Amino acid sequence: MKNFDNSVDAYKEAVDLMPGGVNSPVRAFKSVGMSPIFMEKGKGSKITDIDGNEYIDYVLSWGPLILGHADENVVSKLKEAVERGTSFGAPTTLENKLAELVIERVPSIEMLRMVNSGTEATMSALRVARGYTGRDKILKFEGNYHGHGDSLLIKAGSGVATLGLPDSPGVPESIAKNTITVPYNDMESVRYAFENYGDDIAAVIVEPVSGNMGVVPPVGDFLQELRKITADNGTVLIFDEVMTGFRVGYNCAQGYFDVTPDLTCLGKVIGGGLPVGAYGGKREIMENVAPAGTIYQAGTLSGNPLAMTAGYETLSALEQSSYDELNSKLEKLMDGFKQAAKDFDIPLHINRAGSMFGVFFTNEEVINFETAQKSNLDYFAQYYRAMIDEGVFLPPSQFEGLFLSTAHTDEDITKTIQAIRNAFSKIEK
Ligand code: PMP
Repeated sequence: MKNFDNSVDAYKEAVDLMPGGVNSPVRAFKSVGMSPIFMEKGKGSKITDIDGNEYIDYVLSWGPLILGHADENVVSKLKEAVERGTSFGAPTTLENKLAELVIERVPSIEMLRMVNSGTEATMSALRVARGYTGRDKILKFEGNYHGHGDSLLIKAGSGVATLGLPDSPGVPESIAKNTITVPYNDMESVRYAFENYGDDIAAVIVEPVSGNMGVVPPVGDFLQELRKITADNGTVLIFDEVMTGFRVGYNCAQGYFDVTPDLTCLGKVIGGGLPVGAYGGKREIMENVAPAGTIYQAGTLSGNPLAMTAGYETLSALEQSSYDELNSKLEKLMDGFKQAAKDFDIPLHINRAGSMFGVFFTNEEVINFETAQKSNLDYFAQYYRAMIDEGVFLPPSQFEGLFLSTAHTDEDITKTIQAIRNAFSKIEK
């Protein structure tokens, strides 16, 4: 068994300093029954904790580190950038460079605005959609996560396509009532919502591949149908590609599925591990943002030179072939999972889109939040703890995806498959 004494001590200190001892809830490892592991450093596919335990990392800072930890080129360009100063509060050409790259690769984006997180991107995109359409309501999907903005921390009301309820104290009901929440992959509910509220719906916001209830891809023509119904109703279609952007493929999920939304939210990979978000889309819509237009949105550190540098260098290192390589490594890993499940008689369902994937401990298809919840959480927690012991760091929740980086080697995958086999063999049924 690994020794976590330093992490346990650090956590004892942290709980007095920060709510739950952490700066983001899932880092508290609550659903896997462990004390949080404090990290010291990362290099390539590996991460090392403050007790000196090394892991193959499939969290990758929850997606951003597609080149792995401390990529040599990214680090060296960051060092140069930091010497020139960390923030100016005035434009830099670095912002143009990253913006140009993003516009070139993301089909829907003709113009964009940099912000500091995914949450800021989605909050701002909603404001723009509301300002542009003059409508108040938005439609989102159960089990999709779009950051912690008030309009988006909403759970479904009772019944399908009803107005939402606050998902957190502090979210006013007056805001919740403007958010309609329907099941993912359920066009019938979307149609019902449009029949009832169509003229009032400013935006439909969707994760084109859901990554926040585990990984759940769109089924059939779901995204195409969303494109059609929003266009027919004068509603802005927003793809939240904070997770899928430059992860699912070279041209993001919208390129992968060939569906072009009106607005796109980005984060994670475009910051290469530094705090970044962005939202962008049709020029006609984006030109309403201040100071070109009247919809207000601003940020002291937006377009920060360090973040722009890490983002630019990360995206520049990615080619179509990078995704092909990620895909083939992933296939090998998925085959390992499937074989282990068969050999040790563990119920397992794997969902995948591009290089994003998630495993559920169930034999049933997982197409939405309801079916994702059929996963056996006890099996997940046992598997999780065993994998940590085997030296594999995974997201400490069933309802999160796994990420691969270009730094993961074939040897990492082989070791991970052996770890999975060892973990599955120990699951008590
Ligand atoms: N949208 C999606 C799809 C996300 O996965 C996340 C974060 N996991 C966010 C928005 C929020 O981004 P951030 O945590 O950077 O605010």
